[in-house]
Amino acid sequence: MTQMQSIDPATGDVVGTVTVTPTDAIPAVVTRARAAHVAWNARPLTERLALMRKASALFAERAADIGLLGTREMGKPLREMAGEASGIAELLLSDLDEMATAFADDVQVNERARTTVHRDGFGVALCIAPWNFPVLMPHTQIIPALAAGNAVVFKPSERSPLTGAAYAQCLIDVLPPDVLQVVHGDGEQGRALVTSDVDLIVFTGSRAAGVHILEAASGSLKRVILELGGKDPLVVLDDADLDAAATFAARNSFRNAGQVCVSTERIYVQDGVHDAFVDRLVAVTRDMTVGDGKVEGTRVGPMVDGRQKAHVTAQVDQAVQLGATVAYRGDKNDGNYVSPVVLTNVSHAMPIAMDETFGPVACVIRVDDDAQAVALANDTPYGLGAVVFGGADRARGVARQLTAGMIGVNQGIGSVGSTPWVGARQSGHGFHSGMEGHRQFAQVRVLTERL
Ligand code: NAD
Repeated sequence: MTQMQSIDPATGDVVGTVTVTPTDAIPAVVTRARAAHVAWNARPLTERLALMRKASALFAERAADIGLLGTREMGKPLREMAGEASGIAELLLSDLDEMATAFADDVQVNERARTTVHRDGFGVALCIAPWNFPVLMPHTQIIPALAAGNAVVFKPSERSPLTGAAYAQCLIDVLPPDVLQVVHGDGEQGRALVTSDVDLIVFTGSRAAGVHILEAASGSLKRVILELGGKDPLVVLDDADLDAAATFAARNSFRNAGQVCVSTERIYVQDGVHDAFVDRLVAVTRDMTVGDGKVEGTRVGPMVDGRQKAHVTAQVDQAVQLGATVAYRGDKNDGNYVSPVVLTNVSHAMPIAMDETFGPVACVIRVDDDAQAVALANDTPYGLGAVVFGGADRARGVARQLTAGMIGVNQGIGSVGSTPWVGARQSGHGFHSGMEGHRQFAQVRVLTERL
């Protein structure tokens, strides 16, 4: 059996090891899941949800350990990682309340017949997660899949396998055998899983892997839900509150060291306020403490590993060679660290303006007017999030012209209530969360009886 080490990116210490699932063992895992699906799907929805609710207490009990494990495996500052882990216990309960409605039968009757719309599990759902939200991403995939009546095979990221397994264990401890199973490994296991006999593939990760999965799923028309990368724009109009816009820009460019799918990756600022905005952005950035996420007060942790650091630094170096100006660069750049960088004079001729960076880099691009800001913001194959700061009506007008799936006006993309998490264009294919998102995890069956 091959063992895989999980390494703390802040220190290089071994956090732990997991046993990699040999690819030739995957068909048996899927066969067990298929068998477990039958009884799981046959249980009434209320019973399934009641069983899943029991995991809430375990999530609450284990949250502190899971949060620390997450920080040790992927470097996110402990305050943020602890919040991610401790939020799950309650989130599970509110998700399940919503799913009680989302997956309930709908009945329509007339004098001749009664039609019932049933929502069943597809069969075996494969959930493949990234590492950057090592608890929340698996949660958004696994919970609707199980609630709908699917058995789940879950592969956490090879960069956060222990955190993923610890999350899954809270559910495994309350579920019947094989309703949820964990497979460990990297892209090799991922590729073997997507070509195995699963019915639904729920994937969150890079666009490149998403393209491969869509191709691999096409032969047998597997259902797919893909949440992919982004290149989110921030538009700053010349009537914006510049302090608020700069504070948002810094926080959203550098949160989790920029390793967030909805990080601000491009900032379009109108000419008249460009210099004042950059001054404010640099001032906020200077105050961000870079270091080990386990140390109190750290705002920006390390890159997840050396490969990610090499990708980010290569993009920055190339942008500078092509004419970008370094307006600010922090000085902690040893090990896996990349201190926040503010670049100005960025243009769309530079790969850093077009390809996902996934690192702590704020790229500022000067624009003349609203129309140019909209045109450049939309000049991307991606379409995950976007944000506009400016006078309310004008900013809303600009926002409605943007091609992203989730758009914030004078705030981030966080929505009121439970809504879909949705990438437009090449940032997604299908989506999850919210009533509409939950229902993508179920096969609809329409049964009509003569009365
Ligand atoms: P990744 O695509 O490298 O890996 C994601 C997962 O897929 C891992 O578990 C990996 O082992 C597996 N995998 C890799 N190649 C595969 C293949 N060909 N077939 C099947 N499985 C495969 O992504 P990552 O580096 O873990 O995560 C970062 C990416 O995820 C970024 O692009 C980020 O924007 C994106 N992301 C998107 C969202 C969203 O909601 N849209 C959320 C978080 C992260």
